[in-house]
Amino acid sequence: MITRLSKLFVRTLRDDPADAEVASHRWLVRAGYIRRAAPGIYSWLPLGLKVLAKVEAIVREEMDAIGSQEVRFPALLPREPYEATNRWTEYGPNLFRLRDRKGGDYLLGPTHEEMFTLLVKDLYSSYKDLPLSLYQIQTKYRDEARPRAGILRGREFVMKDSYSFDIDDAGLEASYQRHREAYIAIMNRLGLEFVIVRATSGAMGGSASEEFLAVADSGEDTFVRSPGGYAANVEAVTVPAPEPVDFSGIGAPRRVPTPDTPTIATLVDRVNADHPRDDRPWQASDTLKNVVFTLVQPDGKRSIVAIGLPGDRDVDTKRLEAAVAPAEVLPFLDEDFAANPALKKGYIGPEALGESSASGVTYLVDPRVVTGTRWVTGANEYGVHVIDLVAGRDFTPDGVIDVAEVREGDPAPDGSGPLSLARGIEMGHIFQLGRKYAEALGLKVLDSNGKLVTVTMGSYGVGVSRAVAAVAEARSDERGLNWPRELAPFDVQIVPAGKDAAMAEYAETLAMELSAAGFDVLLDDRKASPGVKFTDAEILGVPTAVVVGRGLADGVVEVRDRATGERSELAAEGAADALIDLLRT
Ligand code: ATP
Ligand code: MG
Repeated sequence: MITRLSKLFVRTLRDDPADAEVASHRWLVRAGYIRRAAPGIYSWLPLGLKVLAKVEAIVREEMDAIGSQEVRFPALLPREPYEATNRWTEYGPNLFRLRDRKGGDYLLGPTHEEMFTLLVKDLYSSYKDLPLSLYQIQTKYRDEARPRAGILRGREFVMKDSYSFDIDDAGLEASYQRHREAYIAIMNRLGLEFVIVRATSGAMGGSASEEFLAVADSGEDTFVRSPGGYAANVEAVTVPAPEPVDFSGIGAPRRVPTPDTPTIATLVDRVNADHPRDDRPWQASDTLKNVVFTLVQPDGKRSIVAIGLPGDRDVDTKRLEAAVAPAEVLPFLDEDFAANPALKKGYIGPEALGESSASGVTYLVDPRVVTGTRWVTGANEYGVHVIDLVAGRDFTPDGVIDVAEVREGDPAPDGSGPLSLARGIEMGHIFQLGRKYAEALGLKVLDSNGKLVTVTMGSYGVGVSRAVAAVAEARSDERGLNWPRELAPFDVQIVPAGKDAAMAEYAETLAMELSAAGFDVLLDDRKASPGVKFTDAEILGVPTAVVVGRGLADGVVEVRDRATGERSELAAEGAADALIDLLRT
């Protein structure tokens, strides 16, 4: 195929879109691949659509290779199945809900566990039909709180979702492993540097789950790694609780005035000056900080939770959101303090907290707050703290919550060494769902003994449109996009650079030869200056460009490699054959 740039529906833009924070967003818009239609909602233009189709093709091939079969559900779905699993409510404001002319409730599918479960229930009834794996590549809708970075986090996006159906746990494990292998193959073919990390299952429920993250500084996910091979999304890191400590030698708690101690550091200085410990100085990690949040359940029910954690750490909002999902987390504002006078801002202590206390506020503590630990904390009176308050002796929290920030150098939970932190873009997520959906929707089959058993399921997603952005993110530079061969909208771009008719003629012939050899050729036949053509070629990001310029008179053309920036000369005579070899490697 030859595509003439003069006819191609594309306009490269000189300026960044005003809302572009990341490179992929900037370049996909400037290179004319995508166009914003509404916040988090994008149109695909010819170039973008070609790349999207290539990502889809990779995903399709790898899913077919593990024996998964393609189907396609509607995006517009009835309420009832989502009611049966409670996700109509649980999805909260993220779900696009709508109503038809008869008053029936519908939704735009954010993910399709319910529909797949019901489809299999409709048609299958025996263990002999299993295992089964089905997938679709389809448009999903989520009213994301923070759509961002163009198609990286859209409100409409393309996902490959697949589902496995097995008679028993061993079958599920095997299906899960097959998907894991397929995902590794997909990530490799996309050319992305990636990590597989433990994940939380969030609104999906179920147990084992892993995420595939493309390593990228601009990613929204933080993950940790240890030298010994532990890898987890920071949301899924669990801090092992230390053993309880002996508190027999610790005296009774004392209330002490602590004026002018607005920060943890000033508080530590003050208690070290006025009330020194006999064994060692007080440290920030000896202070028990109590942070209050409002939780809003998907049905709108609000509650207050106080989280107690060592004062040298903050609550990690994303870990908190993951821990309390599907509830939404809101900051506790001054007006909330005003409405809850038992909570003295800056001086909140365990004695005012707990479901059985006067405040009734749920009190959850960090796993490090084990029985016997000795704390400096708020005394529930302005300007006063309490020292030697011992967990398990002087206060008993309602439970444990593991949401403190994870820091560089913290020990890995499995003892495999210190953790290092990095950021990534979530590309895929694989879950062992288990029987949650099958139970809710009654998917049972007869086993080999003629007994009805509930099917066990897995659910697996790849962000197909997100992958276009993630690859652009990983590979673009200050001059534009830069596609790997497998995803590029064209194999080669031919750039006649000069007004000479011989150049145009040579370029035409070369384009025909390469096209005849099966390559997808973009021919820049525009009447534009060489400078404009070169700049556009770099913005568009086709991996190989052939410049047909002044050298033609001396019998040479130039080959430019977009990825390495290398330029080399080729004999004009027989250039097609040399290029065919080059493009095939
Ligand atoms: P995230 O944590 O990024 O919100 P998620 O955990 O909600 O994602 P899943 O429900 O696991 O996502 O969806 C499967 C895949 O779909 C994700 O791994 C991601 O690649 C992609 N995806 C999810 N939400 C979006 C979105 N808003 N825009 C583009 N791709 C998305
Ligand atoms: Mg996920």
